[in-house]
Amino acid sequence: MSSNKSKVYFGSIQHGKVWPFASFPVKVDKITEILMEQTPIEEKDKVAIKMHLGFNDGYQTIPVFFVRRIVEAVKRTGGYPFITDNPTAVYNAVKRGYTQETCGCPIIPIAGVKDGYTTPVKINFKGFDTLDLGGVLKDADVLIDLSHAKGHGACGYGGAIKNLALGGYSGPTRWVKIHGVSHIDKYWDSVKGSPEHARKLVEACPYGALRYDEEKENLIRNYHDCHQCFTCLEIDQDIGALKLPRESYTAFQEMMAISSSKVLETFDSSKVFYLNFLLNITTYCDCLGTAQPSIVNDIGIVGSKDIVAIETATLDLIKKEGLIEKNIPPFLKHVNLDPNEDLHPFTRLHGPYKDPYESVRFVEKLGKGTSRYELVEILSPEETANMKTPEKAFERGEPTFM
Ligand code: SF4
Repeated sequence: MSSNKSKVYFGSIQHGKVWPFASFPVKVDKITEILMEQTPIEEKDKVAIKMHLGFNDGYQTIPVFFVRRIVEAVKRTGGYPFITDNPTAVYNAVKRGYTQETCGCPIIPIAGVKDGYTTPVKINFKGFDTLDLGGVLKDADVLIDLSHAKGHGACGYGGAIKNLALGGYSGPTRWVKIHGVSHIDKYWDSVKGSPEHARKLVEACPYGALRYDEEKENLIRNYHDCHQCFTCLEIDQDIGALKLPRESYTAFQEMMAISSSKVLETFDSSKVFYLNFLLNITTYCDCLGTAQPSIVNDIGIVGSKDIVAIETATLDLIKKEGLIEKNIPPFLKHVNLDPNEDLHPFTRLHGPYKDPYESVRFVEKLGKGTSRYELVEILSPEETANMKTPEKAFERGEPTFM
C-alpha cells in the first residue's frame, strides 16, 4: 500500500457462510475493534457518539442493535460513552428504540435541553463570522462519528460530514446560517419581476420549491426541494428576473465542509474515528422523519480514521451498487437515468448541481484527510466461505441465556 493512502475498513452485508461467525454484526464488531485500537481512549475519557437519531415516522436510522455493540466496545476500553444529537431527536429517540437501557449509555442533547449550551467557533464565509457549536460535543474527549449513509435533498448525500456539519450545531446555526448560506447570493430581481410573474413561477415549479413573500416582494427557492429541472428559468427567459446559480448549491457544501472541520478542530485528531452504515439507503435524509423505500441495495459498513477517505469510499461503493430503479419515488420526474452519463446515483436523483462528492472535496482542501484510500475488506464472503464452520450447539437442555 502506498503510504499516502488512508485505510477504509469494509464489512459487506453479504456472507460466505450462514453461521454467525461470517455475519455482518461480527464485521461491525471487528471494524470497531480495529479503529478502537488505533484510537487512544484513556480511562474515564468522555466518548461522544454523534448520531442522527431521526424524527417522527422515520425508522431507517442505525439500528439500536449495532449502537449497543459499539457502546459496549467503548466501555471495554474504560471510556465513558454517551450518544448525542439535537434536543428534539434526543427527546423522541425512544420512538426508534434508543434509550439508556437499550443503547447502554446516556443520550444527551448536543447543546442542552433548550439548545442554548453552545460555544462560538469563528469562520469567515459569505458574511458569517461565527457558528454555535454544541457545548456537549465540545466537552467530549473522544468523538465517534456514527453515521447512516443516505441521500440528502440539499446536497445529494448525507453521511459522516453532514452528521457533524449540521448535527454538531444548535438549531438556529443549522437552519439560519448553514442552510441559509444558499440564499446569500441574490437570485430574484424584484424590479424586473412583478408579483404576478413571481406567482406564475411558483405555480409552475413541479416540486413546490418556490415561494413568494408578498410583503418583501421576494421569490424564495427552497434549495432542498429544487431538482434543477430549469422550468422556472424557461418561463423567465424573456424577463430575466430569476437566476439559478450553481454557486448557491455549492455554497451549502462548502459551508458544511467548514462547519464539520470546525467540529474536528475541537478534538485531538488521534481521538476521532468514523463509522458509516450503508444500510437502508434512502433518497432523503433522516431529518425528514418519514419512511422511504431504499433506492440502493444494502451494502454494509465502512470505518476509518479519515473523514475524507470514508466519505469517498462510501460514495464510491454506492455508485458501484447503483440505483434500484423501481424504488425511485414516483414524484421525482427529472431523474437522469442515462447510462451514457457518468453520474453518481445521488446526482441522478437530486439534480446536476447536487454533486455528493463536493463537500468531501472541500473538506480535503481544508486538510482534514485524503480521498486516496485503500479498501480493506474484513471477513469477505470469499474468506468466510473457506473457513471451518465451528460446531453449533443448539439449546436442547437448560436455557443457556447466552
Ligand atoms: S429549477 Fe425546477 S425545481 Fe428548481 S425552483 Fe426551478 S422549477 Fe422548481
